[in-house]
Amino acid sequence: MNYRSTRGDPAPRKFCDILLEGLAPDGGLYLPERYPQLDAAALGRLRRVHAEQGYAALAFEILSLYIDDIPAADLRAICDKTYTEAAFGTPQITPLKKLAPGLYLEALSNGPTLAFKDMAMQLLGNLFEYELARRGAQLNILGATSGDTGSAAEYAMRGKRGIRVFMLSPHGRMSAFQQAQMFSLQDANIHNIAIEGVFDDCQDIVKMVSADLDFKRRYRIGSVNSINWARLLAQVVYYFAGYFQATQANGEPVDFAVPSGNFGNVCAGHVARMMGLPIERLIVATNENDVLDEFFRTGSYRVRGSAETHETSSPSMDISKASNFERFIADLLGREGARVAALFGGALRREGCFDLSGDPLFAQVRARYGFVSGSSTHADRVAAIREVFGQHGVMIDPHTADGVKVARQHLRPGVPMIVLETALPVKFAATIVEALGREPPRPAPFEGIEALPRRVTTLPAEGVRVKDFIAAHCD
Ligand SMILES: *Cc1c(COP(=O)(O)O)cnc(C)c1O
Repeated sequence: MNYRSTRGDPAPRKFCDILLEGLAPDGGLYLPERYPQLDAAALGRLRRVHAEQGYAALAFEILSLYIDDIPAADLRAICDKTYTEAAFGTPQITPLKKLAPGLYLEALSNGPTLAFKDMAMQLLGNLFEYELARRGAQLNILGATSGDTGSAAEYAMRGKRGIRVFMLSPHGRMSAFQQAQMFSLQDANIHNIAIEGVFDDCQDIVKMVSADLDFKRRYRIGSVNSINWARLLAQVVYYFAGYFQATQANGEPVDFAVPSGNFGNVCAGHVARMMGLPIERLIVATNENDVLDEFFRTGSYRVRGSAETHETSSPSMDISKASNFERFIADLLGREGARVAALFGGALRREGCFDLSGDPLFAQVRARYGFVSGSSTHADRVAAIREVFGQHGVMIDPHTADGVKVARQHLRPGVPMIVLETALPVKFAATIVEALGREPPRPAPFEGIEALPRRVTTLPAEGVRVKDFIAAHCD
Protein backbone atom coordinates (compact mmCIF):
# COMPACT_ATOMS: atom_id res chain seq x y z
CA MET A 1 0.00 0.00 0.00
CA ASN A 2 1.28 3.46 -0.95
CA TYR A 3 0.19 6.82 0.39
CA ARG A 4 -0.14 10.10 -1.46
CA SER A 5 -0.82 13.70 -0.60
CA THR A 6 -4.34 15.04 -1.11
CA ARG A 7 -2.80 17.98 -3.01
CA GLY A 8 -1.23 15.96 -5.77
CA ASP A 9 2.45 15.60 -4.78
CA PRO A 10 3.24 12.56 -6.95
CA ALA A 11 5.76 10.87 -4.63
CA PRO A 12 4.32 7.64 -3.20
CA ARG A 13 5.20 6.88 0.40
CA LYS A 14 5.04 3.90 2.75
CA PHE A 15 3.19 3.74 6.04
CA CYS A 16 6.29 4.03 8.24
CA ASP A 17 7.49 7.07 6.27
CA ILE A 18 4.32 9.02 6.98
CA LEU A 19 3.97 7.62 10.51
CA LEU A 20 6.44 10.13 11.93
CA GLU A 21 5.46 13.00 9.61
CA GLY A 22 2.74 15.62 9.76
CA LEU A 23 1.67 17.35 6.57
CA ALA A 24 2.89 16.25 3.15
CA PRO A 25 5.56 18.57 1.65
CA ASP A 26 2.91 20.26 -0.54
CA GLY A 27 0.78 21.04 2.53
CA GLY A 28 -1.71 18.23 1.89
CA LEU A 29 -2.69 15.25 4.02
CA TYR A 30 -1.78 11.66 3.28
CA LEU A 31 -4.33 9.15 2.05
CA PRO A 32 -3.89 5.55 0.93
CA GLU A 33 -3.88 5.29 -2.86
CA ARG A 34 -7.03 3.20 -2.68
CA TYR A 35 -9.26 1.76 0.02
CA PRO A 36 -9.00 -2.03 0.29
CA GLN A 37 -12.37 -3.52 -0.65
CA LEU A 38 -13.98 -6.11 1.59
CA ASP A 39 -16.38 -8.46 -0.13
CA ALA A 40 -18.93 -10.62 1.70
CA ALA A 41 -16.40 -13.38 2.35
CA ALA A 42 -13.81 -10.97 3.76
CA LEU A 43 -16.36 -9.27 6.01
CA GLY A 44 -17.54 -12.69 7.19
CA ARG A 45 -13.98 -13.58 8.10
CA LEU A 46 -13.52 -10.33 10.05
CA ARG A 47 -16.75 -10.96 11.95
CA ARG A 48 -15.45 -14.38 12.97
CA VAL A 49 -12.02 -13.05 13.92
CA HIS A 50 -13.68 -10.44 16.12
CA ALA A 51 -16.05 -12.95 17.73
CA GLU A 52 -13.41 -15.61 18.34
CA GLN A 53 -10.20 -13.65 18.97
CA GLY A 54 -11.36 -10.20 20.00
CA TYR A 55 -10.56 -6.58 19.31
CA ALA A 56 -6.76 -6.76 19.06
CA ALA A 57 -6.99 -9.49 16.42
CA LEU A 58 -9.54 -7.45 14.47
CA ALA A 59 -7.22 -4.43 14.68
CA PHE A 60 -4.35 -6.50 13.30
CA GLU A 61 -6.46 -7.70 10.34
CA ILE A 62 -7.56 -4.18 9.41
CA LEU A 63 -4.18 -2.53 9.96
CA SER A 64 -2.53 -5.24 7.83
CA LEU A 65 -4.54 -4.05 4.84
CA TYR A 66 -2.82 -0.66 5.07
CA ILE A 67 0.62 -1.46 6.48
CA ASP A 68 3.02 -3.61 4.46
CA ASP A 69 6.30 -2.31 5.83
CA ILE A 70 6.09 -3.83 9.31
CA PRO A 71 6.48 -7.64 9.51
CA ALA A 72 3.13 -9.28 10.32
CA ALA A 73 4.34 -10.85 13.56
CA ASP A 74 5.58 -7.48 14.83
CA LEU A 75 2.36 -5.70 13.89
CA ARG A 76 0.32 -8.38 15.61
CA ALA A 77 2.44 -8.03 18.75
CA ILE A 78 1.93 -4.24 18.69
CA CYS A 79 -1.87 -4.68 18.44
CA ASP A 80 -1.90 -7.31 21.20
CA LYS A 81 0.15 -5.09 23.48
CA THR A 82 -2.08 -2.05 22.82
CA TYR A 83 -5.65 -3.29 23.04
CA THR A 84 -5.72 -5.03 26.41
CA GLU A 85 -8.38 -5.30 29.08
CA ALA A 86 -5.86 -3.78 31.51
CA ALA A 87 -5.62 -0.58 29.41
CA PHE A 88 -9.22 -0.34 28.20
CA GLY A 89 -11.20 -1.69 31.13
CA THR A 90 -13.23 -4.43 29.43
CA PRO A 91 -12.44 -7.54 27.37
CA GLN A 92 -14.51 -6.12 24.47
CA ILE A 93 -12.40 -2.89 24.51
CA THR A 94 -15.30 -0.92 22.90
CA PRO A 95 -18.49 -2.54 24.30
CA LEU A 96 -21.94 -1.47 23.09
CA LYS A 97 -24.50 -0.24 25.61
CA LYS A 98 -28.09 -0.56 24.49
CA LEU A 99 -30.09 2.55 25.38
CA ALA A 100 -33.33 1.58 23.65
CA PRO A 101 -34.27 -0.84 20.88
CA GLY A 102 -32.15 0.23 17.92
CA LEU A 103 -30.19 2.89 19.84
CA TYR A 104 -26.71 2.09 21.13
CA LEU A 105 -23.73 3.80 22.67
CA GLU A 106 -20.31 2.46 21.68
CA ALA A 107 -17.94 3.04 24.60
CA LEU A 108 -14.67 4.45 23.29
CA SER A 109 -13.60 6.17 26.46
CA ASN A 110 -12.50 3.51 28.90
CA GLY A 111 -8.80 3.96 28.09
CA PRO A 112 -6.18 5.51 30.38
CA THR A 113 -7.38 9.14 29.98
CA LEU A 114 -11.11 8.42 29.70
CA ALA A 115 -11.58 9.89 26.21
CA PHE A 116 -11.73 8.27 22.78
CA LYS A 117 -8.37 9.72 21.75
CA ASP A 118 -6.75 6.87 23.69
CA MET A 119 -8.06 4.43 21.08
CA ALA A 120 -5.61 5.83 18.53
CA MET A 121 -2.93 7.38 20.71
CA GLN A 122 -2.16 4.18 22.63
CA LEU A 123 -1.44 2.46 19.31
CA LEU A 124 0.60 5.43 18.10
CA GLY A 125 2.82 5.25 21.19
CA ASN A 126 3.68 1.63 20.47
CA LEU A 127 4.14 2.23 16.73
CA PHE A 128 6.45 5.19 17.40
CA GLU A 129 8.56 3.28 19.88
CA TYR A 130 8.86 0.37 17.44
CA GLU A 131 9.77 2.47 14.41
CA LEU A 132 12.21 4.74 16.28
CA ALA A 133 14.01 1.70 17.69
CA ARG A 134 14.20 0.20 14.21
CA ARG A 135 15.79 3.41 12.89
CA GLY A 136 17.92 4.01 15.96
CA ALA A 137 16.31 7.45 16.10
CA GLN A 138 14.77 9.72 18.69
CA LEU A 139 11.78 12.04 18.60
CA ASN A 140 10.76 15.02 20.70
CA ILE A 141 7.04 15.53 20.45
CA LEU A 142 5.94 19.13 20.79
CA GLY A 143 2.24 19.84 21.15
CA ALA A 144 -0.38 22.24 22.43
CA THR A 145 -3.48 21.10 24.24
CA SER A 146 -6.57 22.45 25.90
CA GLY A 147 -7.42 19.05 27.35
CA ASP A 148 -7.99 15.60 25.84
CA THR A 149 -5.28 15.45 23.18
CA GLY A 150 -2.41 16.35 25.46
CA SER A 151 -3.28 13.90 28.17
CA ALA A 152 -3.92 11.09 25.67
CA ALA A 153 -0.52 11.79 24.08
CA GLU A 154 1.28 11.83 27.43
CA TYR A 155 -0.31 8.60 28.66
CA ALA A 156 0.55 6.95 25.33
CA MET A 157 4.19 8.10 25.30
CA ARG A 158 5.08 7.86 29.00
CA GLY A 159 8.12 5.70 29.58
CA LYS A 160 8.57 4.98 25.85
CA ARG A 161 12.16 4.64 24.66
CA GLY A 162 13.40 7.23 22.19
CA ILE A 163 10.53 9.64 22.84
CA ARG A 164 10.12 12.81 24.88
CA VAL A 165 6.95 14.86 25.09
CA PHE A 166 6.83 18.66 25.54
CA MET A 167 3.18 19.57 26.01
CA LEU A 168 2.06 23.19 26.25
CA SER A 169 -1.23 24.04 27.92
CA PRO A 170 -2.81 27.36 28.90
CA HIS A 171 -1.93 28.05 32.53
CA GLY A 172 -4.93 27.58 34.84
CA ARG A 173 -7.43 27.11 32.04
CA MET A 174 -7.96 23.37 31.91
CA SER A 175 -10.41 21.66 34.26
CA ALA A 176 -8.97 20.64 37.64
CA PHE A 177 -9.35 17.00 36.67
CA GLN A 178 -7.55 17.47 33.35
CA GLN A 179 -4.69 19.36 34.99
CA ALA A 180 -4.33 16.66 37.62
CA GLN A 181 -4.37 13.94 34.97
CA MET A 182 -1.48 15.49 33.07
CA PHE A 183 0.58 17.13 35.78
CA SER A 184 0.62 14.12 38.09
CA LEU A 185 2.66 12.09 35.60
CA GLN A 186 6.14 11.61 37.03
CA ASP A 187 7.76 9.98 34.01
CA ALA A 188 11.11 11.55 33.14
CA ASN A 189 10.27 11.72 29.41
CA ILE A 190 7.08 13.77 29.92
CA HIS A 191 7.38 17.55 30.23
CA ASN A 192 4.33 19.66 31.05
CA ILE A 193 4.71 23.35 30.24
CA ALA A 194 1.96 25.68 31.44
CA ILE A 195 2.02 28.82 29.29
CA GLU A 196 0.88 32.13 30.75
CA GLY A 197 -1.69 32.73 28.04
CA VAL A 198 -4.60 31.12 26.23
CA PHE A 199 -4.71 28.01 24.03
CA ASP A 200 -4.05 30.07 20.87
CA ASP A 201 -0.79 31.33 22.41
CA CYS A 202 0.26 27.72 22.97
CA GLN A 203 -0.54 26.85 19.38
CA ASP A 204 1.31 29.90 18.07
CA ILE A 205 4.41 28.86 20.01
CA VAL A 206 4.26 25.34 18.55
CA LYS A 207 3.99 26.84 15.06
CA MET A 208 6.82 29.29 15.71
CA VAL A 209 9.16 26.60 17.05
CA SER A 210 8.30 24.20 14.21
CA ALA A 211 8.88 26.92 11.62
CA ASP A 212 12.52 27.21 12.77
CA LEU A 213 13.76 24.40 10.55
CA ASP A 214 17.26 24.36 12.04
CA PHE A 215 15.89 23.98 15.54
CA LYS A 216 13.36 21.43 14.36
CA ARG A 217 16.02 19.27 12.75
CA ARG A 218 18.58 19.67 15.52
CA TYR A 219 16.12 18.68 18.23
CA ARG A 220 14.15 16.19 16.12
CA ILE A 221 10.82 17.90 16.78
CA GLY A 222 7.71 15.95 15.78
CA SER A 223 4.01 16.01 16.54
CA VAL A 224 1.06 13.73 17.16
CA ASN A 225 -1.74 15.94 15.88
CA SER A 226 -5.06 14.74 14.58
CA ILE A 227 -4.03 14.74 10.91
CA ASN A 228 -1.68 11.79 11.53
CA TRP A 229 -2.83 8.95 9.28
CA ALA A 230 -1.96 6.23 11.81
CA ARG A 231 -4.34 7.81 14.32
CA LEU A 232 -7.12 7.84 11.78
CA LEU A 233 -6.43 4.24 10.76
CA ALA A 234 -6.57 3.05 14.38
CA GLN A 235 -10.03 4.60 14.63
CA VAL A 236 -11.35 2.66 11.62
CA VAL A 237 -11.22 -0.52 13.71
CA TYR A 238 -13.93 0.44 16.21
CA TYR A 239 -16.45 1.09 13.45
CA PHE A 240 -16.07 -2.58 12.54
CA ALA A 241 -16.24 -3.66 16.18
CA GLY A 242 -19.39 -1.58 16.72
CA TYR A 243 -20.99 -2.92 13.57
CA PHE A 244 -20.33 -6.55 14.48
CA GLN A 245 -21.82 -6.04 17.94
CA ALA A 246 -24.97 -4.25 16.73
CA THR A 247 -25.85 -6.68 13.93
CA GLN A 248 -26.45 -10.40 13.60
CA ALA A 249 -25.21 -10.76 10.04
CA ASN A 250 -23.21 -8.79 7.49
CA GLY A 251 -25.31 -6.79 5.09
CA GLU A 252 -27.59 -5.33 7.76
CA PRO A 253 -27.28 -1.54 7.53
CA VAL A 254 -26.41 0.67 10.52
CA ASP A 255 -26.01 4.40 11.08
CA PHE A 256 -23.29 6.01 13.21
CA ALA A 257 -23.62 9.35 15.00
CA VAL A 258 -20.28 10.99 15.77
CA PRO A 259 -19.53 13.98 18.04
CA SER A 260 -17.19 15.91 15.75
CA GLY A 261 -14.56 18.63 15.90
CA ASN A 262 -11.54 18.13 13.68
CA PHE A 263 -13.34 15.49 11.58
CA GLY A 264 -10.85 12.77 12.56
CA ASN A 265 -13.30 10.41 14.22
CA VAL A 266 -16.01 10.57 11.57
CA CYS A 267 -13.41 10.48 8.77
CA ALA A 268 -12.42 7.04 10.08
CA GLY A 269 -16.09 6.06 9.68
CA HIS A 270 -15.94 7.28 6.11
CA VAL A 271 -12.88 5.09 5.49
CA ALA A 272 -14.65 2.04 7.00
CA ARG A 273 -17.66 2.74 4.79
CA MET A 274 -15.46 3.10 1.69
CA MET A 275 -13.99 -0.34 2.47
CA GLY A 276 -17.46 -1.85 2.26
CA LEU A 277 -18.64 -1.89 5.88
CA PRO A 278 -22.46 -1.56 5.57
CA ILE A 279 -22.75 1.87 7.18
CA GLU A 280 -25.68 3.63 5.61
CA ARG A 281 -25.35 7.06 7.14
CA LEU A 282 -22.64 8.94 8.99
CA ILE A 283 -24.17 11.60 11.18
CA VAL A 284 -21.83 14.48 11.95
CA ALA A 285 -22.78 16.09 15.27
CA THR A 286 -21.28 19.45 16.18
CA ASN A 287 -21.81 21.86 19.05
CA GLU A 288 -22.23 25.63 18.61
CA ASN A 289 -19.01 25.56 16.59
CA ASP A 290 -20.89 24.33 13.58
CA VAL A 291 -18.50 24.80 10.67
CA LEU A 292 -19.02 21.16 9.66
CA ASP A 293 -22.79 21.18 10.13
CA GLU A 294 -22.94 24.26 7.95
CA PHE A 295 -21.02 22.53 5.17
CA PHE A 296 -23.11 19.38 5.22
CA ARG A 297 -26.32 21.42 5.17
CA THR A 298 -25.34 24.08 2.64
CA GLY A 299 -22.17 23.12 0.75
CA SER A 300 -20.38 26.17 2.05
CA TYR A 301 -17.23 25.62 4.14
CA ARG A 302 -16.37 28.73 6.10
CA VAL A 303 -13.66 28.62 8.75
CA ARG A 304 -14.18 30.77 11.79
CA GLY A 305 -11.98 33.43 13.33
CA SER A 306 -11.05 33.17 17.00
CA ALA A 307 -13.71 35.77 17.91
CA GLU A 308 -16.29 33.51 16.27
CA THR A 309 -15.08 30.34 17.98
CA HIS A 310 -17.23 29.70 21.05
CA GLU A 311 -16.06 28.23 24.33
CA THR A 312 -18.68 25.55 25.01
CA SER A 313 -19.48 22.81 27.49
CA SER A 314 -18.18 20.26 24.96
CA PRO A 315 -14.74 21.91 24.68
CA SER A 316 -12.98 19.17 22.73
CA MET A 317 -15.23 20.05 19.80
CA ASP A 318 -14.51 23.80 19.94
CA ILE A 319 -12.73 24.18 16.64
CA SER A 320 -12.56 26.97 14.08
CA LYS A 321 -11.65 24.69 11.18
CA ALA A 322 -11.74 20.90 10.83
CA SER A 323 -8.19 19.77 10.16
CA ASN A 324 -9.08 16.35 8.66
CA PHE A 325 -11.87 17.61 6.42
CA GLU A 326 -9.53 17.89 3.42
CA ARG A 327 -9.37 14.09 3.31
CA PHE A 328 -13.07 13.71 2.64
CA ILE A 329 -13.09 16.54 0.11
CA ALA A 330 -10.22 14.82 -1.73
CA ASP A 331 -12.39 11.69 -2.06
CA LEU A 332 -15.41 13.74 -3.09
CA LEU A 333 -13.35 15.42 -5.83
CA GLY A 334 -12.10 12.06 -7.12
CA ARG A 335 -8.59 12.73 -5.71
CA GLU A 336 -8.00 15.57 -8.15
CA GLY A 337 -5.01 17.00 -6.34
CA ALA A 338 -4.93 20.28 -8.25
CA ARG A 339 -8.52 21.01 -7.29
CA VAL A 340 -7.99 20.10 -3.63
CA ALA A 341 -4.94 22.39 -3.61
CA ALA A 342 -7.00 25.20 -5.19
CA LEU A 343 -9.62 24.87 -2.45
CA PHE A 344 -7.50 24.29 0.65
CA GLY A 345 -4.22 25.94 -0.35
CA GLY A 346 -5.93 28.69 -2.37
CA ALA A 347 -9.48 29.81 -1.66
CA LEU A 348 -9.45 28.83 2.00
CA ARG A 349 -6.16 30.56 2.66
CA ARG A 350 -7.18 33.72 0.75
CA GLU A 351 -10.85 34.06 1.62
CA GLY A 352 -11.35 31.69 4.54
CA CYS A 353 -14.08 29.81 2.69
CA PHE A 354 -15.13 27.83 -0.35
CA ASP A 355 -18.54 26.91 -1.63
CA LEU A 356 -19.50 23.67 -3.37
CA SER A 357 -23.24 24.27 -3.27
CA GLY A 358 -23.37 24.92 -7.01
CA ASP A 359 -21.32 21.85 -7.88
CA PRO A 360 -23.23 18.68 -8.86
CA LEU A 361 -20.75 16.77 -6.67
CA PHE A 362 -22.32 18.30 -3.56
CA ALA A 363 -25.43 16.12 -3.98
CA GLN A 364 -23.15 13.08 -3.63
CA VAL A 365 -22.11 14.06 -0.12
CA ARG A 366 -25.38 12.66 1.10
CA ALA A 367 -26.49 10.37 -1.72
CA ARG A 368 -23.21 8.56 -2.30
CA TYR A 369 -21.22 9.11 0.87
CA GLY A 370 -24.06 8.99 3.41
CA PHE A 371 -23.21 12.17 5.33
CA VAL A 372 -25.87 14.10 7.24
CA SER A 373 -25.38 16.47 10.14
CA GLY A 374 -26.82 18.48 12.99
CA SER A 375 -25.69 20.68 15.86
CA SER A 376 -26.54 21.23 19.50
CA THR A 377 -26.55 23.99 22.09
CA HIS A 378 -25.60 23.88 25.74
CA ALA A 379 -29.29 23.56 26.64
CA ASP A 380 -29.63 20.60 24.23
CA ARG A 381 -26.70 18.85 25.87
CA VAL A 382 -28.02 19.37 29.37
CA ALA A 383 -31.42 18.06 28.25
CA ALA A 384 -29.85 15.02 26.56
CA ILE A 385 -27.77 14.19 29.66
CA ARG A 386 -30.95 14.38 31.79
CA GLU A 387 -33.02 12.37 29.37
CA VAL A 388 -30.53 9.56 28.90
CA PHE A 389 -29.97 9.34 32.65
CA GLY A 390 -33.68 9.53 33.45
CA GLN A 391 -34.85 7.07 30.81
CA HIS A 392 -31.95 4.64 30.63
CA GLY A 393 -29.96 5.14 33.82
CA VAL A 394 -26.79 5.87 31.83
CA MET A 395 -24.68 8.96 32.52
CA ILE A 396 -23.15 10.52 29.40
CA ASP A 397 -20.65 13.34 29.01
CA PRO A 398 -21.47 16.58 27.13
CA HIS A 399 -19.66 15.50 23.92
CA THR A 400 -21.56 12.23 23.77
CA ALA A 401 -24.68 14.27 24.50
CA ASP A 402 -24.05 16.26 21.30
CA GLY A 403 -24.07 12.92 19.48
CA VAL A 404 -27.23 11.64 21.18
CA LYS A 405 -29.12 14.86 20.53
CA VAL A 406 -28.34 14.85 16.80
CA ALA A 407 -28.77 11.06 16.48
CA ARG A 408 -32.31 11.32 17.86
CA GLN A 409 -33.23 13.64 14.96
CA HIS A 410 -32.06 11.04 12.47
CA LEU A 411 -33.43 7.76 13.88
CA ARG A 412 -35.02 5.45 11.32
CA PRO A 413 -37.10 2.36 12.04
CA GLY A 414 -35.23 -0.86 11.41
CA VAL A 415 -31.76 0.73 11.21
CA PRO A 416 -29.65 0.48 14.37
CA MET A 417 -28.10 3.81 15.39
CA ILE A 418 -24.71 3.66 17.10
CA VAL A 419 -23.68 6.83 18.93
CA LEU A 420 -19.97 7.02 19.65
CA GLU A 421 -19.30 7.79 23.31
CA THR A 422 -16.21 10.00 23.20
CA ALA A 423 -15.50 10.80 26.87
CA LEU A 424 -16.56 9.78 30.36
CA PRO A 425 -18.68 12.23 32.39
CA VAL A 426 -16.06 12.56 35.17
CA LYS A 427 -13.93 14.71 32.85
CA PHE A 428 -16.69 17.32 32.60
CA ALA A 429 -18.18 17.30 36.07
CA ALA A 430 -19.53 20.87 36.08
CA THR A 431 -22.01 20.19 33.26
CA ILE A 432 -23.06 16.90 34.84
CA VAL A 433 -23.77 18.65 38.14
CA GLU A 434 -25.77 21.27 36.27
CA ALA A 435 -27.82 18.62 34.46
CA LEU A 436 -28.27 16.02 37.19
CA GLY A 437 -27.51 17.76 40.47
CA ARG A 438 -24.89 15.19 41.34
CA GLU A 439 -21.21 14.46 40.78
CA PRO A 440 -20.29 11.90 38.12
CA PRO A 441 -18.73 8.68 39.42
CA ARG A 442 -14.96 8.58 39.34
CA PRO A 443 -13.15 5.39 38.23
CA ALA A 444 -11.03 4.03 41.10
CA PRO A 445 -7.58 4.82 39.62
CA PHE A 446 -8.51 8.51 39.54
CA GLU A 447 -9.55 8.85 43.19
CA GLY A 448 -7.77 11.81 44.73
CA ILE A 449 -5.53 12.62 41.74
CA GLU A 450 -5.87 16.36 42.43
CA ALA A 451 -3.80 15.85 45.59
CA LEU A 452 -0.87 14.07 43.88
CA PRO A 453 2.48 15.86 43.46
CA ARG A 454 2.69 17.82 40.20
CA ARG A 455 5.36 17.98 37.57
CA VAL A 456 4.86 21.14 35.53
CA THR A 457 6.89 24.20 34.56
CA THR A 458 5.21 27.57 34.06
CA LEU A 459 6.65 29.77 31.31
CA PRO A 460 5.66 33.11 29.77
CA ALA A 461 4.07 32.97 26.30
CA GLU A 462 7.38 33.38 24.48
CA GLY A 463 8.68 30.94 21.90
CA VAL A 464 12.32 31.47 22.86
CA ARG A 465 11.65 30.42 26.43
CA VAL A 466 10.06 27.18 25.21
CA LYS A 467 13.02 26.57 22.87
CA ASP A 468 15.44 27.07 25.76
CA PHE A 469 13.47 24.64 27.87
CA ILE A 470 13.52 21.99 25.14
CA ALA A 471 17.23 22.47 24.53
CA ALA A 472 17.96 22.14 28.25
CA HIS A 473 16.03 18.87 28.48
CA CYS A 474 17.48 17.09 25.44
CA ASP A 475 20.87 15.43 25.45
C1 LIG B 1 -11.35 15.14 20.19
C2 LIG B 1 -12.72 14.89 20.70
C3 LIG B 1 -13.86 14.99 19.87
C4 LIG B 1 -13.77 15.40 18.43
O1 LIG B 1 -13.18 14.43 17.61
P1 LIG B 1 -12.61 14.82 16.16
O2 LIG B 1 -11.85 13.63 15.72
O3 LIG B 1 -11.73 16.03 16.38
O4 LIG B 1 -13.77 15.13 15.29
C5 LIG B 1 -15.10 14.71 20.44
N1 LIG B 1 -15.23 14.38 21.74
C6 LIG B 1 -14.16 14.29 22.56
C7 LIG B 1 -14.38 13.95 23.98
C8 LIG B 1 -12.87 14.53 22.08
O5 LIG B 1 -11.81 14.44 22.91
